[in-house]
Amino acid sequence: MICAAISEQSAEDAVNVGIDSASIGADLVEVRFDSIQEIPQDLSVFQKIPVPKIATFRTLSQGGKCNFDEERLDFFRECSKYFEYIDIEYDSKLSDMQFDNCKKIVSYHDFLKTPPAEIIEKIITNLQKKACIAKAAFYVRSVTDLYEIITASQHLTGSYILIGMGELGELTRICYDTLGSEITYASPCIGKETAAGQIDVKSLKKLGKGCCLTGIIGNPVSHSRSPDMHNAAFRSLGINGHYFRFRCEEDELEKIVQIIRVLGMKGMNVTIPYKQKIMEYIDEVDKTAEDAGAVNCIMNEGNQLKGMNTDIAGFRESFKAAGVCVRDKNSLIIGAGGAARACAAFLSEEHSEIRITNRTKEKAEKLAKEFNGTVVDSADTDSDIIINCTPIGMEGFEKESIFQECLFNKNQTVMDAVPVPEITKFLEKAKECGAHIISGREMLIYQAMDAFETWTGLKPDYSVMSKAYGETR
Ligand code: NAP
Repeated sequence: MICAAISEQSAEDAVNVGIDSASIGADLVEVRFDSIQEIPQDLSVFQKIPVPKIATFRTLSQGGKCNFDEERLDFFRECSKYFEYIDIEYDSKLSDMQFDNCKKIVSYHDFLKTPPAEIIEKIITNLQKKACIAKAAFYVRSVTDLYEIITASQHLTGSYILIGMGELGELTRICYDTLGSEITYASPCIGKETAAGQIDVKSLKKLGKGCCLTGIIGNPVSHSRSPDMHNAAFRSLGINGHYFRFRCEEDELEKIVQIIRVLGMKGMNVTIPYKQKIMEYIDEVDKTAEDAGAVNCIMNEGNQLKGMNTDIAGFRESFKAAGVCVRDKNSLIIGAGGAARACAAFLSEEHSEIRITNRTKEKAEKLAKEFNGTVVDSADTDSDIIINCTPIGMEGFEKESIFQECLFNKNQTVMDAVPVPEITKFLEKAKECGAHIISGREMLIYQAMDAFETWTGLKPDYSVMSKAYGETR
């Protein structure tokens, strides 16, 4: 059941927002009386709300504004005439009382952290002794916290509400059914949230069962524009889906994989630094991931997690869109890491002659051997195609340069895998020399389109993803 949590300053506004929330699909509403400045003596006015109602009068210690149990006793007795549920904090003396004709929710909030699963289970089991429904909400700071909530939910029985607060807790609000939670709380509309991570009723209603849940794992991920691109694609195609951001420590990879499985998430992007490490935790890798030696996309097929690499498609589609054919041309790859490997796989597929140059020559030799290429000196710039697959040019590497001089010519195509800035110094120089240039921004969008199509079966529009990428800059 979706419950709209209403926090208005007047009883009249609370009633109106309650009626509106019911009209857009809220199954019940919670009235936060601690927000109402003058509570009317006669609470019958709340009967106008046409769905079951929860009366809540939060204490200071549990995130509200009231502190007097004595004041609240008479109030709750009055509420029990018009409200189907009363929510009382676990540490209030009133939590032991019974109220006629009214179900008692006994609630526990931790606004700072999430404890281990066993403690969550204990908290809820203890609350259940006093309550008709036990409610526990924890602030989710990390993938581990999210994992603890999900693990606890797998052992709990009886009636309970289990919520993860904060951005990472959003998943628990969407997947409340899978967690066995009876109620999920939503804001009546965007901007009227009563807790961190609360989603509005309309959006939550859409993100119901069968929702295509996806996301990105890496460290860092706060800069990633993938959530903007994928969420825009979901909206434009009318797909019931959402893309999350998970900052993960290495020892949390196993936990995030478990979260994907338990919540039935459709897929996940994997970014730096886990493109290789993630392979230890998934079930299989396909040819693209084998060729690239890295997984940047996971697909969940009936709980079988398959690792893939969409960077190869990113290179392929970027060249295709630019109208540049690499077949039978000389191509120089600068770098010998993950992107260089995906690039080599693409060039090899297209029968391009591969040349590789890298700071660490041994790595270039290893890559060249695998893809039948040759190792060349960094000044060897007479190739038809030149692709930078090092981070030089991106934030933190702006001062370094790949070539000291401008050695390009107008017959060349020069690509930089670095997506930000869109035009790196490397591309600037190439452009000055009249070469055809391709930005890493293109590759990023095309690889995202490939991942989206893998998960949903539908090809998103380039312009939708490109606009979403651009708008977040
Ligand atoms: P990686 O696996 O860490 O490889 C980095 C490569 O760059 C290595 O060959 C490394 O040389 C070389 N390198 C690093 N710092 C250098 C420096 N200061 N001077 C010279 N060479 C240096 O990284 P990656 O995953 O391949 O990523 C490389 C770049 O591609 C990043 O900027 C990334 O953002 C970009 N990328 C873009 C997309 C896209 O969709 N646009 C997708 C993937 C990657 P050593 O072997 O000597 O360490």
